[in-house]
Amino acid sequence: MNQLQDKAPYNRRRFLMNTGRGVLAASVLGQMAGCASNAQQNNGLPATTTDTVPVKLAPIDHPSEKPKSPPPAPMNPEKRIGYALVGLGHLTLDELLPAFGECKYSKPVALVSGDAAKAAKVAQQYGIKPQNIYNYQNYDTIKNNPEVDVVYIVLPNSMHEEFTVRAAAAGKHVLCEKPMATSPAEAQRMIDACKKANKKLMIAYRIQYEPNNRQVMKWARERKWGKVKVLEMYNGQNQGDPNQWRQKKALAGGGSLPDIGLYCLNTARFITGEEPEWVSANIYSDTADPRFKEVEDTVLFQMGFPSGTVVNAGSSYSVHNTKRYRCLADNGGWFGMDPAFTYSGLKMEVSEVREGKEYKESPSIDEKNQFALEIDHMSQCILNNQQPYTPGEEGLQDHKIMEAIYRSAKERKVITLDKITKLDAFRGTPPKQDA
Ligand code: NAD
Repeated sequence: MNQLQDKAPYNRRRFLMNTGRGVLAASVLGQMAGCASNAQQNNGLPATTTDTVPVKLAPIDHPSEKPKSPPPAPMNPEKRIGYALVGLGHLTLDELLPAFGECKYSKPVALVSGDAAKAAKVAQQYGIKPQNIYNYQNYDTIKNNPEVDVVYIVLPNSMHEEFTVRAAAAGKHVLCEKPMATSPAEAQRMIDACKKANKKLMIAYRIQYEPNNRQVMKWARERKWGKVKVLEMYNGQNQGDPNQWRQKKALAGGGSLPDIGLYCLNTARFITGEEPEWVSANIYSDTADPRFKEVEDTVLFQMGFPSGTVVNAGSSYSVHNTKRYRCLADNGGWFGMDPAFTYSGLKMEVSEVREGKEYKESPSIDEKNQFALEIDHMSQCILNNQQPYTPGEEGLQDHKIMEAIYRSAKERKVITLDKITKLDAFRGTPPKQDA
């Protein structure tokens, strides 16, 4: 039995594999089901590998106060899913490695970097063994390291394909940063490589795991204030160094659209659950600005969904931070988030009419580390053998739509896309926090 099977919960399939088939199996399975249902009473110990049971603390607030989440109930570190982080840049060092401290099912066990001195320093900080440091050349030997279950790819966009394909060939699952790649063809090859190796591929769309954004998604889908007719969205920031990889077409694949406009595109698809049937776009860049010699600055795009909801969205690389959206509904309310796409400090906004008065409110729910939630979702999918909520197919669909957005701007016409009427057409198992 390999190490991953070892970490999988003791489910029906594994039981049958281990014991053979037949009457004996059926009778013992019945007993197992009984054991599992009794497990919550089993001195509070978990029923399966992924059930972690929080310690109960006596409440100290008045019942009218906002309820608090129970204390975290992490899995024993020995049993957690092990990650190798590839690329030790801003996202890995500022957000991902610290986020593992808030993970319940995941731990960092290896690093892959082109800078041996930096990797040694980081390994020291996070208790990663020196023998678990790899470089881009010997990366493939990670296949011999049973501590690594997942490779998390945090490199410039054009490198995602190569490092995904090599990870899959090494027998590892892949969590890959957004944008998934730089074209639909690359995204498709990444999906194919992971399928061939029978490994999971998840794209790190953190917003889809973040509780405030999930609340907005639920309000939209349950039509709390009627049907969302218009989704208004913007993601803008002011880029610095014109020589960074994000300003180079070969490494980034594009400018503001694949980097930050993608948040508008992916979140619109997530909130509605729908796929656009047309897109229309315009691009504006000052090519005298050295930042926009190779990649675009501002992209303004519109999309139409099968239900009739329309999206008015945009992204810029030359404006002060603006990361928000608003769902305009047809029955006495609008709702959204400002900011919506930042790492922390997210705020919901609601405007509604009650008893003839207009209320503007900022409801809030407990903020959680988005990266920890997203990483733990990947681990739970491995432990329970489920398809991630945001698999490679979700990333591929965004690349197809972005390609149509670029085409629309270039050809100055509306582009029609394949009609997809199924809701959540490309998503897998929803995150556990909603269960
Ligand atoms: P970064 O520039 O800070 O780090 C990139 C790392 O890749 C560095 O360690 C660098 O040394 C290494 N690298 C290897 N080959 C390189 C090359 N040829 N050119 C440049 N760097 C090279 O970038 P980052 O901000 O950490 O972004 C990495 C990935 O993460 C990107 O795909 C980006 O879109 C994504 N990202 C996602 C989020 C999010 O919120 N999910 C946020 C930031 C970045």
